[in-house]
Amino acid sequence: MNTALQAVITIEGLGAMLDILKDKGYRVVGPTVRDQAIVYDEIVSLADLPAGWTDEQDGGHYRIVRRNDDALFGYAVGPHSWKKFLHPPVQRMWHAERRAEGIHVTPEPIAKERFAFFGVRACELHAIAIQDRVFLDGAHVDPHYRARREGAFIIAVNCSQAGGTCFCASMNTGPQAKAGFDLALTELVDKNGHHFLIEAGTDTGHALLAELPRRAATQDDVEAAKSIVARTAASMGREMRTDDLHELLLGNLEHPRWDNVAERCLTCGNCTMVCPTCFCSSVEDSSDLAGAETSRSRHWDSCFTMDFSYIHGGSVRSTARSRYRQWMTHKLATWHDQFGTSGCVGCGRCITWCPVGIDITEEVHAIRESEPD
Ligand code: SF4
Ligand code: SF4
Repeated sequence: MNTALQAVITIEGLGAMLDILKDKGYRVVGPTVRDQAIVYDEIVSLADLPAGWTDEQDGGHYRIVRRNDDALFGYAVGPHSWKKFLHPPVQRMWHAERRAEGIHVTPEPIAKERFAFFGVRACELHAIAIQDRVFLDGAHVDPHYRARREGAFIIAVNCSQAGGTCFCASMNTGPQAKAGFDLALTELVDKNGHHFLIEAGTDTGHALLAELPRRAATQDDVEAAKSIVARTAASMGREMRTDDLHELLLGNLEHPRWDNVAERCLTCGNCTMVCPTCFCSSVEDSSDLAGAETSRSRHWDSCFTMDFSYIHGGSVRSTARSRYRQWMTHKLATWHDQFGTSGCVGCGRCITWCPVGIDITEEVHAIRESEPD
């Protein structure tokens, strides 16, 4: 792999990148403003990006507000993550028809679509790597995920400002993209204009970069990009100590804080829906009224529902206390036992999009504070 090429492109160069990706047959998806939020959707041109917007985030609070410049990536992550493309909320698995000769079952064809993900943050690259472990590394590989994942071209963006609920610096997952991308951008908006430091992470990225109008990066460009990332790392909205989480949480399964959080938690499942690493699903069969056709679909599920842990006779986790505890201890402790990493990348979405502002960092802190020294 040749990763030597580090260059600077202008905003026109970024537009050329989009055109090249579309010409190569990629469906380009990236950030755009919709319903007063920055979400991920199809990008046709740079005009679709959230130029001049930023976001305010806190527990149960999200607003987009105007910036005083035209930065294209001057905000943190919104409610969507890339899992909605790689592991869609609903995936048909097979379809069956009753025919004269018997039942005919057709597996769902593997989609041929190739995505270019435009504007992937460092924490999201880690989240994709975590989902790769779940869907690709075990004995049972998900062919739909594999096809989308193998076909994807990833353009990362180093964060130029931290969101109010971000804590990727604590989780060692950001704000700088270090691996898992084809190309990585750092947006530079300063007295010299509006441009992007760009580097290749793979041969495919390198080949695309070679097609772009560009100039060589100077030491000043590289230093400017470094200082942006350092400033972002120093301004995280949240932080969380992580070295003792496994012992802390598993040693406090009967802690009274679980009752406290259960009094606030609505068990709505929002935190699991917005989380870029949550992967649980359920299957549903549906048939037509004539009984001639039926299909099976997989859909996102949440450990916050009663049905999730239902086995013959009732739910294993029947209380909000047990369901919140299951979610948090899995994310931060037993995920390590299962997959060898944390299940949390510190993106802050579960804090921002919790309707009552429950904050995973605050819950950990409360349990740790009550530990004897
Ligand atoms: S923690 Fe918040 S988002 Fe998650 S289930 Fe409870 S109320 Fe809903
Ligand atoms: S648990 Fe919360 S902060 Fe961690 S990755 Fe999921 S949504 Fe982001």
